[in-house]
Amino acid sequence: MFCYQCEQTERTDTSNGCSSARGMCGKDQVTADLQDLLIHTLKGVAQYATRARALGAGDNEAGGFTLLALFTTLTNVNFNPTRFTALIAEAAETRARVRARYEAACAERGVPVESLSGPAVWEPAGDLNGLLAQAAVASVLAGRDAAGDDVVGLRAMILYGIKGVAAYAHHAHALGYERDEVYAGVETALDFLAADPTDVGALLDQAMALGRLNLTVMEMLDAANTGSFGPQTPTTVRMTPVKGKAILVSGHDLKDLSLILEQTAGKGINVYTHGELLPAHAYPLLKKHPHLAGNYGGAWQDQVKDFSDFPGSIVMTSNCLVEPGPRYRSRIFTAGPVGWPGVRHIADQNFAPAIQAALAAPGFKDDAPEKTVMVGFGRDAVLGVADKVIDAVKGGAISHFFLVGGCDGAAPGRNYYTDFVEQVPQDGVVLTIGCGKYRFNHLEMGDIGGIPRLLDVGQCNDAYSAIKIAGALAQAFNCTVNDLPLSLVVSWFEQKAVAVLLTLLALGIKDIRLGPTLPGFLTPALLDALVEKFALKPITTAEADLADALAPAA
Ligand code: SF4
Ligand code: SF4
Repeated sequence: MFCYQCEQTERTDTSNGCSSARGMCGKDQVTADLQDLLIHTLKGVAQYATRARALGAGDNEAGGFTLLALFTTLTNVNFNPTRFTALIAEAAETRARVRARYEAACAERGVPVESLSGPAVWEPAGDLNGLLAQAAVASVLAGRDAAGDDVVGLRAMILYGIKGVAAYAHHAHALGYERDEVYAGVETALDFLAADPTDVGALLDQAMALGRLNLTVMEMLDAANTGSFGPQTPTTVRMTPVKGKAILVSGHDLKDLSLILEQTAGKGINVYTHGELLPAHAYPLLKKHPHLAGNYGGAWQDQVKDFSDFPGSIVMTSNCLVEPGPRYRSRIFTAGPVGWPGVRHIADQNFAPAIQAALAAPGFKDDAPEKTVMVGFGRDAVLGVADKVIDAVKGGAISHFFLVGGCDGAAPGRNYYTDFVEQVPQDGVVLTIGCGKYRFNHLEMGDIGGIPRLLDVGQCNDAYSAIKIAGALAQAFNCTVNDLPLSLVVSWFEQKAVAVLLTLLALGIKDIRLGPTLPGFLTPALLDALVEKFALKPITTAEADLADALAPAA
C-alpha cells in the first residue's frame, strides 16, 4: 500500500506517505489496495462515460454511483474490505453498461468507436487474492520512475480534489440535486488521469478546472441544503446533554439527520448532533423538531472518548470515523459511504436498528448544566446584515476579518488555530467553517455593535457560503477579495479541503495560510510553484502570522 492523501500521513526523513501494513488512520493494506483498484475501475467508467456524454448518451446513474464510490475512499470514511470488493465488481458492471451505451451511440451516429486502453480494458480478478495481486497497476505511485515525483504529486492532487468534489456532490445528490455538468466534470477529470498525463501545464490546468467545478458543486450543495431545510438562521445550540434516551448523529449528511429526526418523532428519544453536524441546528426545517436536543462532544479525533461516554446509539453518516472502541462497538451504526468491518451498516435509510439500540441503552440520567454556542451565520444571515457590517468597517469599528476554517485533526501543532483566534484584536471578526472550530468556538468573543465577533458559517461543506460572503464584501467595497481586510487561515486534513483549496486558487485568491503541515503529495518544486503563483503561505506561529496579516500593505 501507499497512501498520502491526508495530513496525518506518515512522514519520515526520506518519504511522505503511509506504506506499512496499516496507515496512520487505521486503514489496513488490503483496504488501501482495494480502494486504489476501485479508483482505477472508476477511471475506466469515466473513459467511456466522457465519450458517451459527448455523443449525447450521458449516464447519470453511473455518475451518481461514481460519486458514492469515490466518497468511500476518502480518509476515515470506509475501512471495510468486503464493501470495496463489492464496489469494484459494481464499478466493472457499470463500466460494461456505459461502454455499451457509448458503442450504441457511436453506431447510431455513424461515428467510429475509439479503441481505449488502460483502466477502460483492465479486468478485475474475481477474488480477493487475485485483486491484491493486481494492486500495483492502480497505486498512486504507478509510473513514478518514468514520470517523476512532481508529475505523480500533481496527479495525486487532482485525484484528491476529485474525491472532495465527489463527497460534496454526493451530499447534494442525496437531497435530490444533481447536474449534468457536475457528472461531466468528474468524468472528464477521471478520464484525464486515466491517460497518465505527464504535461505539467495540462495537469495544472486540470487542477484549476477542478477548482472551478468544485465551486459549482458547492453552490449546488448550498442550494440543496437551503432548498430542503431553509436558509441557516442564527441559533443558540445547547452543548450539554438533557435527561433521557439519546441518539448521536455524526458526519455531514443533513438528509440522514432529517430522516432520523422523523423516524424518532414521538419515541421519547433525544437526537444530538456530533462534529460537523453542529450547523444543522441552524436550518429551520431541522430545528423545528423539538427532540433535536443539542450537540454532544468535540471534533472527530475525540470521538472514542466522546462515544464511549455517550449513553445511547451512534450513527456515522459520513467522514470522519475512527476505529470504534469496545465500549460502543455494539451500538454504533454506519450509513451511506461509511463502513467498518463488523459494525452494523444501514444501507436503506431505515434507522430502526439504531433507534432500537437507543431505546435499549440507558440514556442520560440527568440534565447537565446548560452551555451553549451560536451557529447559523451562513451567507443569508451575514448578507442580511451586510449594511451594518459595511458601516462598521467604514467607521473603523471592524478593522479586519479572519476566516479561520477547515478540518481539525489529532496532529500536534493544531493549537495554532486556538492561539490565533485568541490573539485576534478586539476590532477583528472571525468567520469559521469546518470542525476546526471546536478548538475555539467556546471562547467568549463578544460583539461589535451587535455583530458577533465569532461567526460560525457552517460545515466544511458550507465553504460556498464563505466565498459568497467574501465576494459580497469585495463588491461592496468595490475591490477584489485579495484587497479586502480579510485573511484566510486554513487548516486542512483530508480531500474535501484539497477541493476547496483548488477552488480558492482557481478564484485567484492569494495569501492563504495553510497548515498545520503541508500535503505530502506537494513536492518542494510544486510547493514553490504554488507559493510563487498564489502566494500560498505555510503557517508559522500565531503571533508572527497575525502580525503579518495586520501589517499595512507595502
Ligand atoms: S488516509 Fe491518511 S492516514 Fe490513512 S493511509 Fe492514507 S495518508 Fe495514511
Ligand atoms: S471538517 Fe474535515 S476533518 Fe472535520 S469532520 Fe469534516 S471532513 Fe472530517
